[in-house]
Amino acid sequence: MMNNWWKKAVIYQIYPRSFKDSNDDGIGDINGIIEKLTYLEKLGVDGIWLSPIYQSPMVDNGYDISDYYKIDPLFGTMADFEALIEKAKQLNIRVIMDLVVNHTSDQHLWFKESKKSKNNPRRDFYIWRDQPIGEFKNWTYDSSTQQYYFHLFSPQQPDLNWENEEVRKEIHKMMNFWLAKGISGFRLDVIDLIGKKPEQEITVNGPKLHDYLKEMNLATFGKKDYLTVGEAWSSSPELAKLYSGPNRHELSMVFGFWHLLTSAGNGDKWKKLPLNVPKLKEAMTAWQKLTPNEAWNSLFLGNHDLPRIVSFWGDEGTYREKSAKAFAILFHLMRGTSFIYQGEELGMTNFPFENLSAINDVESHEYFTDRKKEGQSEEEIIKVLREMSRDNARTPMQWTSDEKAGFTKGKAWLSINPNTKIINADQAVSDSNSVFYTYQKLIKLRHQENWLIEADFELLESADEIFAYLRKTTTRTFLVVANLSNLVQRFESSFVKKNEIISNDSFPDLLTDIEIQPWQAFALEIKNLD
Ligand code: CA
Repeated sequence: MMNNWWKKAVIYQIYPRSFKDSNDDGIGDINGIIEKLTYLEKLGVDGIWLSPIYQSPMVDNGYDISDYYKIDPLFGTMADFEALIEKAKQLNIRVIMDLVVNHTSDQHLWFKESKKSKNNPRRDFYIWRDQPIGEFKNWTYDSSTQQYYFHLFSPQQPDLNWENEEVRKEIHKMMNFWLAKGISGFRLDVIDLIGKKPEQEITVNGPKLHDYLKEMNLATFGKKDYLTVGEAWSSSPELAKLYSGPNRHELSMVFGFWHLLTSAGNGDKWKKLPLNVPKLKEAMTAWQKLTPNEAWNSLFLGNHDLPRIVSFWGDEGTYREKSAKAFAILFHLMRGTSFIYQGEELGMTNFPFENLSAINDVESHEYFTDRKKEGQSEEEIIKVLREMSRDNARTPMQWTSDEKAGFTKGKAWLSINPNTKIINADQAVSDSNSVFYTYQKLIKLRHQENWLIEADFELLESADEIFAYLRKTTTRTFLVVANLSNLVQRFESSFVKKNEIISNDSFPDLLTDIEIQPWQAFALEIKNLD
C-alpha cells in the first residue's frame, strides 16, 4: 500500500521568472532557486512546484512550450536542473514540475510540421477543420493549407488533439523522461480541457477526460507514489471524486476554485465581488465534506494567476500581517494538501499598477484591448487590472529592503513593488512575529499532527464574518475560529478549552461568549463534546 506522503506535505509554488535572478539579466532562474533552497528549508516545505521552465517563446511566460525536453536558456541548463533536484533532495525538498499538455507553442516542431500540409504525419496532432465551429475566437486560419486550427488560449498556443493516440503516447514518453530525472510529480495545467470535443462545442469535462487520465496514470506516474494535482476550474466536489477517488487511479487531487469563485461576479473573475464570508464558508464546507475515501483536497490561497490574498480578501493596511496569518491559519488547518505561493509567507500585496506599460501579462493586455473596443475608459480598465491582473502575483519576490528587492542586480523583467522596503524576506525572518513564522508553525503542525489528515470537518454556526469549524477524530476535537473582518465580532459556544495550538493574537480562556478582534484567528484543542 502506498503511504501517500503528499497527504502530510506542504508544497511551495515557485514562479521561476520572478523568484531569484542569479546572473543579473533581470529574470529569475534555476541557480537562483538553488541559492534560496536553505530559505525554503527554514520555512519547512516538503516540495516545490515550478511553473514551466521548458523551452518556450514566452508568449504566455512558459505556458507555451516549444520543446518539452529542453530547459529554456533563460532559466539555465539541464545540468542546472539536475543540480537543483540533487541539492533539493539533500534538504528533503521534492521537485514537482508543471505539465502543460492541453496545448503547445506554435513554435513546437509538431505544430510546424502539422502546418506544412494536410497529409503531414503530424497534421492530426492538432485540431484542423475547414470551418470554425462554435466560438470564432478559438480558431485561426492558416492560408497555406486553407484550414483553421483550434486554440482555447492565444493563437500561439494551438490545442493538441488528444483523440490521437500518437499524441497521448508522445506525452507519456515525455512525462517518463522527467520522472526518470527524479522529480516527485506533476501539476497538470488546465487538465479539465483535454477531453474536449470541438464538434460538439464541449471544452471542459469532455467524455474521454477520465479515460485519458487513467491511461496516463497507468503509463507514467501510477507506478510510484507521486504527487499529481490537476488544475480544474470546472471541478465540483462531485467531479473531484472522479479525479482523485483512491480507487480511480487518476490523480492525487485537483485544485478546486469554488472558494475563489465566490468573488467572481456572474462567474466572471474580472467582475470582482468583495469577500462574502457566508459564501466562502459554504464553498469550503462543500469540499471539506469529502472524505478521504471519496477524494483528497488541495488547500490554496494564491498562485501565479491570482491576485495576492491580502489584497484580494484581506487588509493591505493596518491588518496586512494579521489578515495574512488569519487566512493561513483558517486554510492550513483544513483537510487537504497545502500549497503556498511564493511571497504569500511574507504577506506580499498586489502591485499599484497605474498604466498598461507596467503590465506584461498577455491575458491582461487582451482584456485591455477587448474592453477598449467596447468603449470603456483606460482608467476604468486599469482599475480592474490593478485588482485582478495576473501580474500582481508575478512581480519579483521581495528578498530585501533594497530597491531591487535582492531579486537581481540588473533590471528586473517586471516592476518591483516599492513596498519591498518594508515587506521582504530579510525582515520576516528576523522578526519572530512575522507571517513567515506563522507559516513555519503551520507546516510543522502538518508534519506532526495526524488529526490534520484524519479528522472530519464540521462548520459551526456563527456570526456572518466569523469562519469557525471543528475538526473531530474519534478521540479528539479541535476548534478553529477566524474573524475575517476589520470589526470586532462576537463568538458564542459551550466549548471548554484543553490545549492551545496556534493564534495570530491572544488565545481566549473561556469560549462561552467572547469578543474576536479584527482578523484574529486561533486554533485550540477542546474537551470532547460528549
Ligand atoms: Ca537570470
